[in-house]
Amino acid sequence: DVRVRFAPSPTGALHIGGVRTALYNYLLARQHNGTMILRVEDTDQNRFVPGAEEYIQKSLEWVGIKIDEGVGVGGPHAPYRQSERTAIYMQYAKQLIDAGHAYYAFDTEQELEAMRERLKLAGVPTPQYNSITRTQMRNSLTLSEDEVKKLLEDKVPHVIRLKVPRKEEIRLNDLIRGWVMVHSSQIDDKVLMKSDGLPTYHLANVVDDYLMKISHVIRGEEWLPSAPLHVLLYKFLGWENEMPQFAHLPLLLKPDGNGKLSKRDADQLGFPIFPLTWKDPATGDVAVGYKEAGYLPEALINFLAFLGWNPGTTQELFSMDELIKTFSIERIGKAGTKFDILKAQWFNQQYLRAKSDEELASYLLDALKNEGIACTQDKALKIAAVMRERVTFPKDFWEQGKFFFHAPKAFDENVVSKKWNDDAVKVLTAYKDAVAALPDFDATIAKTTLEQVTANLGIGTGKILQALRVSITGAGGGPDLMMIMEIIGKDEVVNRIEYALQ
Ligand code: GLU
Repeated sequence: DVRVRFAPSPTGALHIGGVRTALYNYLLARQHNGTMILRVEDTDQNRFVPGAEEYIQKSLEWVGIKIDEGVGVGGPHAPYRQSERTAIYMQYAKQLIDAGHAYYAFDTEQELEAMRERLKLAGVPTPQYNSITRTQMRNSLTLSEDEVKKLLEDKVPHVIRLKVPRKEEIRLNDLIRGWVMVHSSQIDDKVLMKSDGLPTYHLANVVDDYLMKISHVIRGEEWLPSAPLHVLLYKFLGWENEMPQFAHLPLLLKPDGNGKLSKRDADQLGFPIFPLTWKDPATGDVAVGYKEAGYLPEALINFLAFLGWNPGTTQELFSMDELIKTFSIERIGKAGTKFDILKAQWFNQQYLRAKSDEELASYLLDALKNEGIACTQDKALKIAAVMRERVTFPKDFWEQGKFFFHAPKAFDENVVSKKWNDDAVKVLTAYKDAVAALPDFDATIAKTTLEQVTANLGIGTGKILQALRVSITGAGGGPDLMMIMEIIGKDEVVNRIEYALQ
């Protein structure tokens, strides 16, 4: 059975990289009719942020990642919030102590600091609590059994540490990175249970993955250094045969490829880093999310799927269902992926274009309602049709289409200086009069009338087209001009040209 989990810590808003991790887990689960689990890893009380858990759930819901089991849903391995499972972890920590793989440590912060100082003076760059230093510290390996008993009875603050063996080659076969080998001397005696009685990430993560029968651990590359420690824990807990398969996803890199993508890059370059708008409860800072910036969830999913994976074909547009069919861990790359917001925008354009005129018109009508501007369904449909190839976000229908509703008050200086000349004035004057006299008016008539006028005056249509456009819309570029004139109507065309000629 494929059983995967997304295991965020509620320490703030879910980063876009976290959404990608959730997505890859989800795709694997769905592909194998497996189970997608949401587990909340909230054992670090200092980093707990109120609202973060709900934010994560809402974000997953918005992008269309459905949770089968876990927080918010329930299931056979409940509870799925680690803070509600503390008794379970203590039991396994004790099991490790009894088996000689873990020990109590009573060292105070000052004692630990003194040890680190001593080692630094002796030239050790990264001091560790390990097989060598533990012999000089206050723990159940150096103290007598009676002393330990007394300290525990007196409730002297202590932690439980893993007894990492001195010389052991730890190997794991990562589905993406292949064999990863680490020597145990590189790992220190990690704390498993903290003095507040809560487990650290490492113990809780391994215990829960085992108890929840997780088959594949798919997570970000930043967790790769922890994986050998987890392998040791599986071994010491006697769960080697039940160990899940690991797949560590490549890093998301800054747009220029220099280092890990961060919130700072996003802020500086002006793109969202969170799926939904997030208000930091501590600072009150608001970060606009992909949703509020106008990204469609299906576009965001498609974009994220390609950040690290590719189908091996030239096909780029994939619905969630197609991704579920096509996805494979084998096609995830090892190398970090540059984050390219332009690609995200391109996907958004593609998904917007695939929508019907009715759907696109509704974006415009919603915006117009906010502005208090009346517009018929027919007009909105026509605007949607002429603008569909040019928009990136739903809001663009209004923001780039204001000229459909408001006559321009200013004209693009660049166009005016280059294209506004005697010929243009001559043609526009005659054209305005010709249009005013027409019994009917639409895009075709607008065009033939213009051709007649320019032919009569002996001036090429191409020479004055920009001047006409700027008088109608104010700008030098935009959708089909004849259609724009049809949509705004005969009287408005005449009025706008008149105004421009003044
Ligand atoms: N709680 C960890 C996180 O916040 C989970 C890492 C893992 O998937 O093992 O990313």
